[in-house]
Amino acid sequence: MSWLAPAIVAILSGSVILSAVFLYLYAREREPWMGIWGVAWLAYSARFGVELYQVLSHSTAVGPALVNYLLVLVTGVLLLDGSYALAGKTIPKWHRGLALAVAAWTIVAATLALPEFYLGIAAWTFRGVANIAAGVVWYRSITQSGPWGKITGVAFITWGLHNLDYPFLRGVASFAPFGFMFGAFLEFIIAFGALIAYFELTRERLSESESRYRSMFEDSASVMLIVDPGTQRVVQANGAAAAYYGWSQEQLATMHMSQINTLSPQEAAAEMARAAAGERASFSFCHRLSSGELRDVEVFTGPIVAQGRHLLYSIIHDVTDRARAERELRESEERYSTLFESSLSPMLLVAAEDAKILDANAAAAKMYGWPIASLIGMTVGELSVDSDDIVAREVTETIADGGRARTFTHCRADGTQFEVEIYSTPMHFGDNLMLYTIVNDISLRAEAQRQVAEYQQHLEDLVKERTGELSKANEELERASVAKDAYLANLSHELRTPLNSVIGFSSLLAGGMVGDLTDEQRRQIEMINDSGRHLLRVVDGILDLARIAAGAVEANIEEVDISHLCGEVADRIAPALEHKRVALSRVIEPNVCIHTDPLLLEQILWNLLGNAEKFTNAGTVEISLSTDEQAVRIVVSDTGRGIRAEDAWRVFEMFVRVEDENGARSDGTGLGLPISRRLVEVLGGRIEFESEYGKGSTFTVVLPRE
Ligand code: ADP
Repeated sequence: MSWLAPAIVAILSGSVILSAVFLYLYAREREPWMGIWGVAWLAYSARFGVELYQVLSHSTAVGPALVNYLLVLVTGVLLLDGSYALAGKTIPKWHRGLALAVAAWTIVAATLALPEFYLGIAAWTFRGVANIAAGVVWYRSITQSGPWGKITGVAFITWGLHNLDYPFLRGVASFAPFGFMFGAFLEFIIAFGALIAYFELTRERLSESESRYRSMFEDSASVMLIVDPGTQRVVQANGAAAAYYGWSQEQLATMHMSQINTLSPQEAAAEMARAAAGERASFSFCHRLSSGELRDVEVFTGPIVAQGRHLLYSIIHDVTDRARAERELRESEERYSTLFESSLSPMLLVAAEDAKILDANAAAAKMYGWPIASLIGMTVGELSVDSDDIVAREVTETIADGGRARTFTHCRADGTQFEVEIYSTPMHFGDNLMLYTIVNDISLRAEAQRQVAEYQQHLEDLVKERTGELSKANEELERASVAKDAYLANLSHELRTPLNSVIGFSSLLAGGMVGDLTDEQRRQIEMINDSGRHLLRVVDGILDLARIAAGAVEANIEEVDISHLCGEVADRIAPALEHKRVALSRVIEPNVCIHTDPLLLEQILWNLLGNAEKFTNAGTVEISLSTDEQAVRIVVSDTGRGIRAEDAWRVFEMFVRVEDENGARSDGTGLGLPISRRLVEVLGGRIEFESEYGKGSTFTVVLPRE
């Protein structure tokens, strides 16, 4: 067997090289099957080492033979294990069981020192079966490797079949070298075929994943760019990017990021450096579209290595609408919180659930004397003099009413109480129901109202007091007036009797009844008589006025034809007027009858006509009577001297006699008009009066028809 030793050395060397190659690749690729096969080839090398020893030492000892067959077994186990590992399959149980049984048989056969055929048959049979099984795995499962999975599978199956013939053909001298060579050949085909299949498989999987990622990039609805951070140029843009930016993918791939980004070149470089270093993955930028429109975008970016280049991938989300909505929300939030915080009206935000204060503004803090931080968390009950129950009920009712305004008494931090008016409105903030509450300190207003009421009361008391004093004074005045009238009446009465004597006796004297008188004596007696008569008129007048004032004059009402009465009075004055050559005019509506006192009315008209006659020296005196629905009007007018405006209403006062242009007074008593006015009042009417100095006067008696 001179060829055997060199052949063994050759295959031993080949196996060692295979082992080294597989273990090296395992170290690099970390593929378990490579490690397993590295060990398998090592075990196989060891088998040839043992066999070389047997050949060279012509050993027929059972020990090396046992080791040789056990290594054959181990190689079979490992090659099958590695194949399953690459195919991603779990090793079937029979595989291990069978291997253990075969090992046991080999050891038993060695122990029993059976012939070498029996020692090796089990190990080689197992090896053949295991290799066929491995071949099937390669042929059927490693399919993505082009033809190489199948080539390896067929080689494995062939090797397995060849293994089965080993125990039988080993001793056949003419076959042994070819068999040995065939085995070695198959071993190398399998080893390298497996490696090529693996790398083919890997390449296939890679290109598959690449195309997957490419289509993920290309077909994604998200806007994506790949950018070179060094040059800041776009390397690649997907379809969504083209649609979004409005430039074609080809255009984008030639563009500089400064055409898209609004950052300064320095800022852009700094941001890209941070993204490339993986320091930051999300950015907010403003990007420019081909239309020139600027959009707010959120950019998610990260470093990638492609074909040795360090690039950045960026996924771009348009957040313009969201950003605008957020900005508007923020602004409106700021607006309302400013309104709340800076309002001069004290405001509270109260939780509906437990009346806890959720927020308070500075005005509220100032009013209550608590800092805002202390107010927040307090309950409204702690600010109010009312019990928590009352506050809780108030809150419930406010919510039911949809808001209400009420007044309460609240406490400040220093314990002082004050009146407040509270306007509360329920509001939903998210899921929480709150009361938005404006609190007005109305203690000043309440105080002012109290003071006003106090002043009013004081004023009323004062008025009452003064009224009391006045009515007392009035009573006294009335008493005094009554006393005066009574006194005047008495006095007049007392004066009348002696006056009548004076007038009577002076008349007798003047008439010469008691003897002849000289002219001088007669003149003086007549003066006494005139003065007496004048005084009597005065006394009568005073008596009349006193009687009227005392209510002693009562109207005796009867139906009176006042047209007739006016005519009678006019007839009586007519001679005197005729004497003075003053015309008398009568404009009397006939047959006017009213209920009144004829004597009092006659006295009034006589006074007025008498005055008209007395103060008129030329022209006309007129008496007229007219009626309307409510009243009758008797007008006495003259074209006499008239009365000055400043004297106008004085003429109705007692004893007033107005001087004429020469300073002379008329010879009247100054009582006619006051008496007339009071008598008209007794009849329920009034006197109206107008006069123009130098032109005449008009006195009108207005009496009610009923
Ligand atoms: P007497 O008895 O003096 O007339 P009266 O009270 O009747 O008293 O009148 C008061 C004064 O009013 C008169 O003195 C006169 O100055 C003025 N007077 C009254 N009637 C007229 C009149 N018709 N024309 C001008 N003066 C008049």
